[in-house]
Amino acid sequence: MFCKKCGKEIDENAVVCIHCGGAVDDNLILVNKNSNSSKIWLGVVLEIFLGVVSLFIGFVLYPAESVARKTFIKGWFVVFIIKVVFIFFCGIMALILPPAYYV
Ligand SMILES: [Zn+2]
Repeated sequence: MFCKKCGKEIDENAVVCIHCGGAVDDNLILVNKNSNSSKIWLGVVLEIFLGVVSLFIGFVLYPAESVARKTFIKGWFVVFIIKVVFIFFCGIMALILPPAYYV
């Protein structure tokens, strides 16, 4: 058979084109895309969970109204924002990138 993307001849049983890397079966793209986005969501949930846990640990370690706690909260907030931006960037890239990259 021939690849739908690049038109080159590929093996009858091929799942992915050896020439362009494109998925041969349209269903495969769907499955991989779904599993990929669920991985992203798992990462988001895990990230928020770990963020909350680390914030909680900081609150336990540093006494209320202390400079150490204020510094910790500032640092935690900066790290959290960076992580949120990174997660959104990864999520957007996953949506933009062509299906071939999911394989
Ligand atoms: Zn191809």
